[in-house]
Amino acid sequence: MTFCFTGIRSFPKLWKSNPYLGLGPAHSSVCLFLKDCYGIRNQQKWFSLKTASPQNTKAVNLLIAKARYPRKGDKGNKKQVSSDSPHLFAAGAAKKRSQMNPQSKDHVLSPVRDTIQLPTKPLNSEEWDKLKEDFKGKANFENWISSQMAHCRSSVDVAKSLLAWVAAKNNGIIGYDLLVKYLYLCVFHKQTSEVIDVYEIMKTRYKSLESGGNSLLIRGLIHSDRWREALLLLEDIKKVMIPSKKNYHDCIQGALLHQDVKTAWDLYQELLGHDVVPMLETLKAFFDFGKDIKDDQYSNKLLDILLYLRNNQLYPGESFAHSVKTWFESVPGEQWKGQFTTIQKSGQCLGCGKTIESIRLSPEEYEFLKGKILRDVIDGGDQYKKTTPQELKRFQNFVKHCPPFDIVIDGLNVAKMFPKSRESQVLLDVVSQLAKQNLRLLVLGRKHMLRQGSRWRRDEMEMVQKQASCFFADNISEDDPFLLYATLHSGNHCKFITKDLMRDHKACLPDAKTQRLFFKWQQGHQLAIINRLPGSKITFQRILSHDTVVQTTGDSWHIPYDEDLVERYSYEVPTKWLCLHRQT
Ligand SMILES: [Zn+2]
Repeated sequence: MTFCFTGIRSFPKLWKSNPYLGLGPAHSSVCLFLKDCYGIRNQQKWFSLKTASPQNTKAVNLLIAKARYPRKGDKGNKKQVSSDSPHLFAAGAAKKRSQMNPQSKDHVLSPVRDTIQLPTKPLNSEEWDKLKEDFKGKANFENWISSQMAHCRSSVDVAKSLLAWVAAKNNGIIGYDLLVKYLYLCVFHKQTSEVIDVYEIMKTRYKSLESGGNSLLIRGLIHSDRWREALLLLEDIKKVMIPSKKNYHDCIQGALLHQDVKTAWDLYQELLGHDVVPMLETLKAFFDFGKDIKDDQYSNKLLDILLYLRNNQLYPGESFAHSVKTWFESVPGEQWKGQFTTIQKSGQCLGCGKTIESIRLSPEEYEFLKGKILRDVIDGGDQYKKTTPQELKRFQNFVKHCPPFDIVIDGLNVAKMFPKSRESQVLLDVVSQLAKQNLRLLVLGRKHMLRQGSRWRRDEMEMVQKQASCFFADNISEDDPFLLYATLHSGNHCKFITKDLMRDHKACLPDAKTQRLFFKWQQGHQLAIINRLPGSKITFQRILSHDTVVQTTGDSWHIPYDEDLVERYSYEVPTKWLCLHRQT
């Protein structure tokens, strides 16, 4: 028997005639249906088994190339990196640093494990039989091929021909997994009417679905006039778990698409109530919808969203920033004007000249952070197990008996910064240069640095000890807790030097507020060495004087945002800003 399927809408006929659904004997209507299609069987070439895809390889290569060179003009710039490197905390800087590191290899996508090529056109039953014969994998063929099709976003038609083949072999029965993968493709290709058909089948066949199936149905239904049923599915999910941010996003999007603003905001409040961080797309959707609404209450809620971004140290993406700008400029009678700009080193906005908030922690913030780090993290944290309590005590006594330092130096880390130079020479260069500026220095080191060797010369280490206070820990100790302790203990003016970005510690900090303060403190207090010229002159990176965070003065807003093509690590901040101010 040969059959094929053409129209998308015709497929549910097969389903509705499924005995499982209690709608009548399967075979009669399947055969009828198949006969309908049979006539055109020979008019088209249905598929080609050999569909090696040079375009795909090309596309993947293009993506890799794009990721590797996020900005135009970055190509071939590597030689200049040391003299022209972006700020330590600037978006994209970490990416660049990793590119400079020859050890980091590109992640090359491995090719699909292919004993066979995926069909690109619907197959008939014999063709599916043949394909299955060719399949030499261990896994169940139907599961494997449907997973591959979902992975490669095959067309709905091809997937439908697979389901028809499976259904014909199994008296119209198709497993749940296969059905969900089919649903995934329908949702992905935005075949809403097909989604509704699968929805009907699932409703009839299963009392309740697992969250994966529900999530797909929600995503598919919100575009239809039956979008309210997506809210019922959300209720179903809530019976067993907290819905995902994506579930909420889809429902909110559905409500906004259908002009139901109240439902959208209610869902948003509910999401926040679960302590779920909303997707930026959700927030953007409210702004996009807002430009057609002239309503103070709605406006105030949008301003609340901006404050939410501030409090949670979140940054909108480029298109979200455009939505915010468009919305502000659409508010009648307020005459907002927006522009995309950058902030000068002095902390002044290049757009309007206003000064951006300072990076300095207030005395209260500083005391709060210091207390948290000294008590909760250094004394109590498990992560410092490599440091013995005796040694920590010895260090704390040492620090107590010294006057406050201006700069704390991670000696080992700094010394290894320029692999071609002798370690003790690099350390001595850094210390001498800073000592000339009358700064009180603390060098943290290890005991092994004091043993004469080719990398560590005794005379140079003696010169270091003459110009700086030094503490040499056991060779097994971790440096970071000592560095944090000494810097925080010395006061808000004290800076530190290490190449290490202390990401691990940030993750260990007890709560979001402490993490934000730590990040702000780190940005304002970590000195980075960006160059060491022949003749021992060391160049330090300027510390930004302003805080990169959403901020307002009432008649102005300054909103840092992420550019689409710049990959920013979690400890970096954006360099681009949206400046909004009211024209008076
Ligand atoms: Zn400005």
